[in-house]
Amino acid sequence: MEKQILDFSNPVGDPMVEIGRLGLIEFCGKDKFDGVKELKPYVEKLFNNYIFNTAKTLNQVFSDNSKFTHNSSTNDLKKRYKNTIEYFDNFIEQKYSGYCMSCGDKDNLSNVEKMIFPLTTGDKNVNFTSNFSSNILMCKACMSSLFFSPINMKKVDWGKAFPISNNHEINTFWTEENIEIFKSNIVKNVDILPDSRINIFENFIYSTIEELQEEELFGDITFYLISNVDRNTKIELVHVYEKQIRFIHQVAPKFLKNELPTKQKDEWNYLIFKYAYKERKENSKKVKFQEEVIDNKNYKSTMKYFNPLISNFIQGKSILYYFKKNLCSWNLTTIYLKEIKGMREERLNIIKKVADNLQLFNEDDKTFYTKFVRPIEMTKSQTEFREKLRILMRKFLSKSDEPLFTADEMVLYILPSGESWYETKDILLIALYEKMNLKAETIENLNEGDNDE
Ligand SMILES: [Zn+2]
Repeated sequence: MEKQILDFSNPVGDPMVEIGRLGLIEFCGKDKFDGVKELKPYVEKLFNNYIFNTAKTLNQVFSDNSKFTHNSSTNDLKKRYKNTIEYFDNFIEQKYSGYCMSCGDKDNLSNVEKMIFPLTTGDKNVNFTSNFSSNILMCKACMSSLFFSPINMKKVDWGKAFPISNNHEINTFWTEENIEIFKSNIVKNVDILPDSRINIFENFIYSTIEELQEEELFGDITFYLISNVDRNTKIELVHVYEKQIRFIHQVAPKFLKNELPTKQKDEWNYLIFKYAYKERKENSKKVKFQEEVIDNKNYKSTMKYFNPLISNFIQGKSILYYFKKNLCSWNLTTIYLKEIKGMREERLNIIKKVADNLQLFNEDDKTFYTKFVRPIEMTKSQTEFREKLRILMRKFLSKSDEPLFTADEMVLYILPSGESWYETKDILLIALYEKMNLKAETIENLNEGDNDE
């Protein structure tokens, strides 16, 4: 074996190799090796752990047919271990010409088998790896990295999940945590592969960014969920933007820990909790939720339950509906609209001004709601909404010297072309609700009889 420096210090393009590279550096405590001879003891230690300890979900990264997992050697673990070391040595000996598909290094490459390279065994994801072909050529460093990827992923639902961020500190934080879990699992003699204990991908992502923002770590992140189980290779990707993490940092710096959040003290977490709670439709889940979350005061375990608010937020869909439905504060709403939707402050101020002006008609909340707010709620098209605003404008002028809004404000800020009228309507409603002292239930009662929504 000729001597060649193995350098793991630079990020590489392929996410599977990258997550393995980070795991390798943390596992070995160094990122440069004076030849394969120096790396080999770490590889042996790793393979030893894979084979002689419990690692039930290793097949989700390597396939069922890999040397690590194939059932033909289940009864003879020493043989299995020997096979895996030979397998690695064989890759090291190979000297294919070309470029490494992951980092672009030239020549002295290994022809990596599909079984250890996730997502290449099935037909569905053939386009995922850019240079897909029956030959997957990789340099010795990238090839070695792949073997370390299982220890730097967490079990989530049907597969293994991991983030890759443009902020290197996030990647390091994730890796340090995993290798610590991995090592402590070995000591505890339990399944060694890290497990998130969350079976919903979006909840896993939410709880990961919760943790990151507490550490004041911000960046764009792509979350991967993969499975390499034969004939069933799958991948899901969710991209989370830095602004989403910063939003959570601003509205919910601490997650539900010791006490239940209230709308007054902790509005965002209150909503999160409420929607975890709301979705417990089946009876068995209801009992479980009551015991696990409420009776045991284990509020963090709400993450085990599907949450439509988290799901929409993580998927980047609008959550304005939830704010409106729950009569959320103008404060929380505007933070969301500014930080996440990038809405102009001026536009928000003018919509707010319209809601404030309309208070001129508010002598008691219930009458005001029925006569002024309800008709806005009921509008079903932009034309209808614009018409309602014009009627309000006329009414307002009969009582005031100032207009409800100017023509410019209407065209540029209230209903500017290209912006959603429906969104404007929701924002106006949220501002109006805040002015009244009505509860969501009271509003529902006032609306009894009409079948809207
Ligand atoms: Zn490479």
